[in-house]
Amino acid sequence: MINIAIDGPSGAGKSTISKAIAKHFGFVHIDTGALYRTVALYVFENNINMNDEKSVAKALENIDIKVAIEEDLQKIYLNGKDVGTKIREPNITKMASDISKLKIVRDFLLDVQRKLAKENDCVMDGRDIGTVVLPDSDVKIFLTASPEVRAKRRLLQQEEMGIFENYEKILEDIKKRDYNDSHREIAPLKQAEDAIKVDSSEFSFEQIKQKCKNLIDERLKNGRI
Ligand code: C5P
Repeated sequence: MINIAIDGPSGAGKSTISKAIAKHFGFVHIDTGALYRTVALYVFENNINMNDEKSVAKALENIDIKVAIEEDLQKIYLNGKDVGTKIREPNITKMASDISKLKIVRDFLLDVQRKLAKENDCVMDGRDIGTVVLPDSDVKIFLTASPEVRAKRRLLQQEEMGIFENYEKILEDIKKRDYNDSHREIAPLKQAEDAIKVDSSEFSFEQIKQKCKNLIDERLKNGRI
């Protein structure tokens, strides 16, 4: 299977770019942040104390996550129910970042992610795909952008989903999440040594998509496949 890893901080455009790239190459797009969000949704809806490792371990035993690809879109079923846009709510966003620090949660999702990559030619986006989940992936891209650009993009994205937030608040959250994600002990957000860095701050979506497409084409042609 061909596996492409796209990592980077929140709001860098990973999801949008990965989706477009996957479509272009005929691969499946796997948004791993959505998996952490799904665990967070379960923890939230079931009032689980995430500071108590035993409770979280028990909760994980009761979580069944299925990822389905329907009309090119990734859908996640949590115990048989489509999670929809609930996982995008601000409280779940914050919680996903908190639970992603837990080893037990990361181990649980590691299996889910590796299994998906084994079964599908895919573009997988996340924070630790190139470093931990799929260290042998065929192409690794580290997509980043300034916090301000990311906050503006996130604001628009949220508005499209009918979730209205304040720019300053989003910027503050992004900075906090960056800090959390890059300072956690297990699988922190960091560029893999063999990843190619792409800074999307000053480029349009089309330009970034083209750049990533070219990089992938080049790597795939250069004999790794
Ligand atoms: O990418 P997204 O913002 O949806 O991710 C939600 C949260 O899940 C992030 O704040 C991050 O802490 C966590 N995450 C992670 N590892 C990944 C993907 C997401 O820790 N591979």
